[in-house]
Amino acid sequence: MDLHHAAIHTFTTKPWSIDQCIDGYARHGFGGISVWRETVAGQDLGRVRKKMSDAGLAGVSLVRGGFFTGKTKEQRDAAIVENRKAIDEAEALGLPMIVLVCGATPGQIPSDNFLQIEQGLEEILPYAEAAGIRLAVEPLHPMYAGDRSAVCSLRDANDMVERLAHPLLGIAVDVYHVWWELDLQEQIDRCADEEHLFAFHVCDFKPDMSHVLLDRGLPGEGVANVGVIDTWVRDAGFAGMTEVEIFSNRYWAEDQDEFLKKIAASLQPLKNPYQD
Ligand code: ZN
Repeated sequence: MDLHHAAIHTFTTKPWSIDQCIDGYARHGFGGISVWRETVAGQDLGRVRKKMSDAGLAGVSLVRGGFFTGKTKEQRDAAIVENRKAIDEAEALGLPMIVLVCGATPGQIPSDNFLQIEQGLEEILPYAEAAGIRLAVEPLHPMYAGDRSAVCSLRDANDMVERLAHPLLGIAVDVYHVWWELDLQEQIDRCADEEHLFAFHVCDFKPDMSHVLLDRGLPGEGVANVGVIDTWVRDAGFAGMTEVEIFSNRYWAEDQDEFLKKIAASLQPLKNPYQD
């Protein structure tokens, strides 16, 4: 694919500051950036916005909001406050969308977590609407069901966003989390047909991972069949950027320019958005 259709998540190059990320992604020819809140903590967001724009990078998403679940009302209310803050940050950065990792509180049963997520989404949607910011629910792999997300499949995410039925609420499909689903192509088509397919994240799932969070592979290094899923996503009509989101202690220990070169090479077999 052409790199100007690809965006990099700033957490992918975690050792870099936001300025290094912006300069580096532009230097390597990538077209977009998704900004992690951690990378811009304490920064002048207006300055960052201008720097992204001056570098010619399209801002794709702010990552991440969510974490709606909690055993007490105080905890759940605090999550709403935090999500409103994230919406303000997205607006200040000129980012049109926030990726949501929806949360799961240990000790609660999954269906209670799921219900609290729906309630949290309903609470922040009017605030997102006022700001014109889209919200993308990211279903996570079930290995994170206990403490990160009770939304564990694209099917469940589709069910949820269809039930809540709001034009600014959609889904981020990440190959790492959904590659194993037997009806994945059907669920991708369903998501796109309902106009809920907001974002597409790539990396790879290594069955022999050394860390449950921080050992993701480059597309092609694992078992996620990234090329096949990429074709399904593009065939379904997704026209947005392919976002590279890799957490890897191994690659973070390398020179990040070399890592970006490897990323660029790994994206070559993937598709550009189809032209009408
Ligand atoms: Zn993702």
